[in-house]
Amino acid sequence: MHVTFHGATREVTGSFHTLTTESDTILLDCGLFQGRRKETEEKNRVLPVDPQTITNIVLSHAHIDHSGRLPMVTNKGFKGNIFCTRATADACGYLLRDSAKIQEGDASYLNYKTARNFLAKLKTGSAEVKLSKDEMHEIGALLKEGKHLLNTQAIEKLLTEQRLEVIRPLYSLEEAEASLAYFAGIPYNDETVVGRDLSCTLYDAGHILGSAMVVIRALNGTRPKNVMFTGDIGRFGKPIIQDPTLDFAEKDRDIDLLIMESTYGARLHDPVEDMKPMLRRVLQETFDRGGSVLIPAFAYGRTQELIYYLHELYMADEVPQVPVYIDSPLATNITNVFGEHPETYDQETHATFLQNGVNPFSFKHLHFVQSVEESMALNRDQRPHIVLSGSGMCEGGRILHHLRHKIHDERNTVLIVGYMGQNTLGRRIQEMGQEYEESGRKGPAPVLNFYNKEYPLNARVQAIGGFSAHGDKNELIRVLKDSNLRVKKIALVHGEEEQSLAFAETLRGLGYAVTVPCHGQSITV
Ligand SMILES: [Zn+2]
Repeated sequence: MHVTFHGATREVTGSFHTLTTESDTILLDCGLFQGRRKETEEKNRVLPVDPQTITNIVLSHAHIDHSGRLPMVTNKGFKGNIFCTRATADACGYLLRDSAKIQEGDASYLNYKTARNFLAKLKTGSAEVKLSKDEMHEIGALLKEGKHLLNTQAIEKLLTEQRLEVIRPLYSLEEAEASLAYFAGIPYNDETVVGRDLSCTLYDAGHILGSAMVVIRALNGTRPKNVMFTGDIGRFGKPIIQDPTLDFAEKDRDIDLLIMESTYGARLHDPVEDMKPMLRRVLQETFDRGGSVLIPAFAYGRTQELIYYLHELYMADEVPQVPVYIDSPLATNITNVFGEHPETYDQETHATFLQNGVNPFSFKHLHFVQSVEESMALNRDQRPHIVLSGSGMCEGGRILHHLRHKIHDERNTVLIVGYMGQNTLGRRIQEMGQEYEESGRKGPAPVLNFYNKEYPLNARVQAIGGFSAHGDKNELIRVLKDSNLRVKKIALVHGEEEQSLAFAETLRGLGYAVTVPCHGQSITV
């Protein structure tokens, strides 16, 4: 049996590994590479294996860097099942559609830019083709259907006629929807046949709702062999979801190869216990100033955790009960998925909410904003309130107009609860805001640039670090040391090179045999 690493090697995104026996090829995750378009475009466009040769896919969880290329596989001759938990399958229904819409939007914007540049060249006379003024005006009017709506078909027609490059999305909304028919939801801790002599069992990974660690068991040969893939490993003691599994079935305890994530292999997080008190303090201070709190939040996991903590704080009457707005259609849909899967909740959630007949994701002051008009109307509300909106890194979506209306006011707070990638607006807000705070708010406020305008960052910027969905170094080690697994060899994936290599050293110090595979490398089990 061979395991080959095709993605998330010495980097975080693009999780994609194959497990090959004489008769079968099993794909573990089918994720999208994320980051700057230039760097990821080519890596995403070419699939490293022919989808027709894949027997089945086992998906660890729904995050796009693990699931985002599934429609490309199902669209090119794959005939098997995508095995994952039911919660993951339900969440993928929303996330893959959302991903397709983003791909389509990006492609049509890039095509629009090519068309617009072509027209500009015509105007300055630097293009090889010459058109009359009327013809140019006609083409210009063709590019847009309204103020914000691009005429995709007309743009593509123009580019094709002029033999200019037309960018296609990785997959369409239709293809994303077609991929959903391949999902087969299975429960945790149940053995399922996935190949001729291969079975898989999913164990809770505690990372996000429905996330799983996968044990693949190969039954041919003199003794069964086990390959375990952790997917992403969560933190211990977080609300709503269970902790990462430590107790594995006897048959799954001897692991010949462990493919393990290492996102925070060299870092430590703030303690989980500090999160609620920190949140309470930020809210109280902001409301004392008469301000509102704006929270850029990822739709899957982070939003629901915040709803959970706010619900607890409101129930205990620990903060002023101002309205809370969830302003993200995707987050609203994902919150419904959470509501539909109480079987995955931890003990505490059952004791605090379900046993008292209370839905953790619904309370009097919580409002799910639907239309763009409702979202805009929030900007006129001068009373203190809380808004959770996306995108999580402030790179697009409704969060931008909330920022535009809130960051000039020093009474307000922008609360950062997630990782802000380099070169994102979220990162700039975090860095500039904290620098200004550390200077004692001396001099004029730092200025942010977005929507082609400048905005002074007068609002307070606060960050709470413990919200991460990934276990830190000690939590990753805990899964190895405190579980009943007996691990022969570890391959570290899903971490920036520096994190993976440092974690490998730590594990070697603890007596484990560890490798950090490179892209395309294989290991024989
Ligand atoms: Zn993840």
